[in-house]
Amino acid sequence: MANRVCVLCGAKYDYCPNCDADKGKPIWMTCWDKAECHDIWVTKLLQ
Ligand SMILES: [Zn+2]
Repeated sequence: MANRVCVLCGAKYDYCPNCDADKGKPIWMTCWDKAECHDIWVTKLLQ
């Protein structure tokens, strides 16, 4: 079940920082579904 929506592309995805399955994933996954979206967002903010 997708419990999150990427703030950049609107894709639905799963991420649970407290679940064993997602513990090793990066913390930015609370807002973005993948590294590309995170990078684009950060790049925009820095311009
Ligand atoms: Zn995205």
